[in-house]
Amino acid sequence: MCLKGKTAIITGASRGIGRTIAMTFARLGANVIINYSSNEKAAQQVANEAMSFGVKAEVIKADVSNLGEVENLVKKVLNQFGSIDILVNNAGITKDNLLLRMSEDDFDKVMNINLKGTFNFTKAVSKVMIKQKQGKIINISSIVGIIGNSGQSNYAAAKAGMIGFTKSIAKELGSRGINVNAIAPGFIETDMTSVLSEGIKEQFISAIPLKRAGKAEDVANVAVFLASEYSDYVTGQVINIDGGMVM
Ligand code: NAD
Repeated sequence: MCLKGKTAIITGASRGIGRTIAMTFARLGANVIINYSSNEKAAQQVANEAMSFGVKAEVIKADVSNLGEVENLVKKVLNQFGSIDILVNNAGITKDNLLLRMSEDDFDKVMNINLKGTFNFTKAVSKVMIKQKQGKIINISSIVGIIGNSGQSNYAAAKAGMIGFTKSIAKELGSRGINVNAIAPGFIETDMTSVLSEGIKEQFISAIPLKRAGKAEDVANVAVFLASEYSDYVTGQVINIDGGMVM
C-alpha cells in the first residue's frame, strides 16, 4: 500500500493506460480522481471499481485543453480531498497524417490536448503542491517524442514538447519538494493502437528486443514508482517503457 492516503488526479482515465494507472493507484491505497472528457459512464465504472479497494474515487469532467475547466476541477478536488499529492498527465489523442496532408486543425488539436493540456493541469496543480511543499507530477509522453515517426509530426512535436516541459518544470519546482518526470511508452496495446493493421503491429513487435507489445500494466507499474516515495531522488527524467525498442 505504498500510496496509502495519497490523492491522485489522472487525466483521461476512463479507458486505456489512464484507467489502468487509476486502478493500480487505488489498489495501492490512493484516492483517485478520474478525469474524463466525454464518456461519463466508462469513467463512473472506473470509479466504482476503484472504490472496491476501499479508497475514495471521484469522476470529474474537464477538457484538459481548457484552462478554466481544469482550474475548476482542481478547486473541486482541493475542497473535497484537502490535498493533491500526485498528478498524471495522461490524456492524449492522435490525428495522424503526412505533413502535406495534415490540416492546421489536426495539428492544433493534438498540440492543445497533448501539450497545452499538460501545461494547464501542471500549472493549476503545482500551485497546490507548492503550498504543500510536496508532490509528484508524471507526464505520459511517448518514444515518438524522442525518435519521431513518419505521419505523426503533430503528435511527435507535442510529445517532445512534453519532455522539454518536464525537464524545465523539474528545475523550477525541485526546490519546492516536487518531483516531475515523464514516461515514454513504446507500443502499448490499448484502444489508441487497436486501429493499427496486424502487419504494422508485427513490424513493431519484431523491432522490440522483449518481443511483445507492452500492456497498460507495464506503464502503470512505473507510474507507481514515480508516484511513490521510492522515487524521491528522481526528477526531470524520462523513463522509456518500450521493451527496449529505443536505447
Ligand atoms: P486512449 O485513447 O485509450 O486514452 C486516451 C484518453 O484521453 C481517453 O480516455 C480520452 O477520452 C482522453 N482524452 C482525450 N482528449 C481529452 C481531453 N481533451 N480532455 C480529457 N481527456 C481527454 O489511449 P492510451 O493508449 O491509453 O494513451 C494514454 C496516453 O499514453 C496518451 O497520452 C498517449 O499519447 C500515450 N501513449 C500511448 C501509447 C500506446 O501505445 N498506447 C504509446 C505512447 C504514448
